[in-house]
Amino acid sequence: MRLKDKVAVVTGASRGIGAGIASMFAVEGARVVLAARSMEEMEALQQSIREQGGESICVCTDVRSKDSMKNMVKAAYETYGAIDILVNNAGYPMFGYAVDDEDDEAEKRYEAIMETNVRGYWFGARFAVPYMKKANKGSIINISSVRGHLGLSNETAYCAAKGAVKMMTKALAVELAPYNIRVNCISPGAIQVKVGHWVLSRYGQKVYDEYVEKFRDIHLLGMECNQPLHMLGEPKDIGYTAVYLASDEARFVTGSDIVVDGGLTSLLPEPGALDMETLVGLHKKQEPMNQWFRSLG
Ligand code: NAP
Repeated sequence: MRLKDKVAVVTGASRGIGAGIASMFAVEGARVVLAARSMEEMEALQQSIREQGGESICVCTDVRSKDSMKNMVKAAYETYGAIDILVNNAGYPMFGYAVDDEDDEAEKRYEAIMETNVRGYWFGARFAVPYMKKANKGSIINISSVRGHLGLSNETAYCAAKGAVKMMTKALAVELAPYNIRVNCISPGAIQVKVGHWVLSRYGQKVYDEYVEKFRDIHLLGMECNQPLHMLGEPKDIGYTAVYLASDEARFVTGSDIVVDGGLTSLLPEPGALDMETLVGLHKKQEPMNQWFRSLG
């Protein structure tokens, strides 16, 4: 019960990493506010938390909307009388080149990525911090990515967003230290969640089915082949790290970025292991996927 009597808000808690963090928080004794757009999935999680003796509420939240984020924080405070922990997790990647003269939609996609993955995090901190300041304590955990550490040719906007999250974390840690509010981030590597669920949210079932059929193998290949610990992570791997950062055991930890990636960002390929031909080959394999996304707009 390392989070006993604490109140935690977790965005993007309807599935994947956010759901993993939220259930682990509940097991550790926190009362959890589940925030995302899909109420049905959150209610299923709430039920499973209840069955394990935990406590949670669901708040329908769109992190892109200022009013919705204000409402999330207000609902948390009105229900539980405190906000001790905020996990900014809701986010999604996006494929496609950032600089492409022929792609009229590139700008729109860039803005959408920033809106959810960066501004949404900032809204979360902005509205939760006044309550934390009042209590003179708090822990904010931002979910970044290994993409905030290393670049990928067809995910420039996402890499930029995750890098921004890392630096937002450090700057906020300094800004909020006088109020005993700690701000840290976690950079996950390849974590096993439902393949490309964000495609479903953004483009609907028909496009999602086509995506899975066409690109599932490329998606999994990209995820599975890069870790020295030759496996994928699970949401609970991020959950364990989040529990630590949220707990009082991490009282001296702020501004840090914990990389949970099976060694992915530690691997410098041996000379010759990745020659130019292989690199260009990988690039070419991704091209049909980039073209396909471009056609969707
Ligand atoms: P996921 O399974 O697709 O879950 C994404 C979550 O974000 C869902 O709960 C979704 O809920 C929520 N979300 C998306 N847009 C939202 C919005 N506008 N408002 C509110 N909620 C929104 O993805 P995941 O893999 O767990 O990703 C979680 C975080 O980890 C993201 O920030 C991602 O960038 C990061 N990450 C993931 C991996 C990985 O390998 N899985 C690796 C590194 C970093 P609704 O659709 O119900 O709103």
